[in-house]
Amino acid sequence: MRALTLTAEWAPKPGYDLTDSERERRRPRNANMTWKQPRIALGDVPDPTLRPDQALLEVAAVGICGSDMHMYEAGADDYMVYPGLVHTPNIIGHEYSGRIVEVGPEVKGLKVGDLVAVEEIQWCGECIACRRGFVNHCLDIEETGFTIPGAMAQYLPVRAKYCWKLDEIAEHYGEEEALVMGAMVEPTGVSYQGLFYRLQNWQPGNNVVIFGAGPIGLAAQALVIAAGAGRVIVYDPSESRCDTAMRMGASVALNPLGIDLDEAIMEQTLGRGVDFVVECAGFAKQTIERLDRCLAVNASIIDIGMGEANPTVPIVAYKRMGVQYAGSLGHAGGPFQQVIRMMAAGRIDMRKMVSARLPLDDAIAAFKRLESREDAKIILQPN
Ligand SMILES: [Zn+2]
Ligand SMILES: [Zn+2]
Repeated sequence: MRALTLTAEWAPKPGYDLTDSERERRRPRNANMTWKQPRIALGDVPDPTLRPDQALLEVAAVGICGSDMHMYEAGADDYMVYPGLVHTPNIIGHEYSGRIVEVGPEVKGLKVGDLVAVEEIQWCGECIACRRGFVNHCLDIEETGFTIPGAMAQYLPVRAKYCWKLDEIAEHYGEEEALVMGAMVEPTGVSYQGLFYRLQNWQPGNNVVIFGAGPIGLAAQALVIAAGAGRVIVYDPSESRCDTAMRMGASVALNPLGIDLDEAIMEQTLGRGVDFVVECAGFAKQTIERLDRCLAVNASIIDIGMGEANPTVPIVAYKRMGVQYAGSLGHAGGPFQQVIRMMAAGRIDMRKMVSARLPLDDAIAAFKRLESREDAKIILQPN
């Protein structure tokens, strides 16, 4: 089958303390400290073999994520930009949907022909984090397209416990569109997890500030609008991304560079301040750290964007205003179902952020095109 494979040189930085297991499995927690000269290549790889507890997915649609870009891109020191768990060589791709074409004898709840979106996080269900309901933080985690083979390929074996059926969407939009929407359940779920699972204090009518109008920020925007937000203020330095945010219903989309954010947000909210701040840019030092005088009483800050620098936050302002802050990491489980239902009901339509649907053979050109960060989402269709 055809597949897109990421490779890199194993070259742990001097002083980076690897555990024995990280060294043995070449699966470091911090890819940016160990993997050098990342590159991607398209080619033929052996067809996957199916275990009895797996079903075979014919991949219909797979999105290119910011994390995929960060695995493919190197920083000034030639090391991979992505700071998380990565093994190479590996087929990447973790935002995906497809059709079940074969079912192993031990699989329950899936049949040939089912259309599904599949969780990226392969949680174990047995560790303490999983047993307490925090499956994103599984202590025995594997990540599709990061540590184990992903979906930028024609076929992928999947387990039923990570699959969510798309029939509710297909009923309204037909199978082909349901599969494209299905590939965006994962990134939309990342935003859903941050907005509605981490603090569980969302209220319709909230004034919202979203940093970053990439896919996660645009998904957050669609979700808060569907959930009855008041004013939705989006900040992104890219003009084309601001245009997309406006097309998708932002109240205003502005460039945050070189302005006093506190002042701008107070002005945009007529002096009332912001109730919900959503960081989807990965630049907390330039975003969250700068918010001090614009936070409303009982404001919430949800930090989703993955960046390297640790912000210094204005704790005194947080205490004075009763601010709650929550970090949010990926998602798995429940948000998939909720996002699929919002899509099926027409409350959110993430196709609005898709600028191209391309065959897998155009993948390398698509990664190049995304280097400018002008497109929000490109979908590859491997079959
Ligand atoms: Zn992603
Ligand atoms: Zn676990």
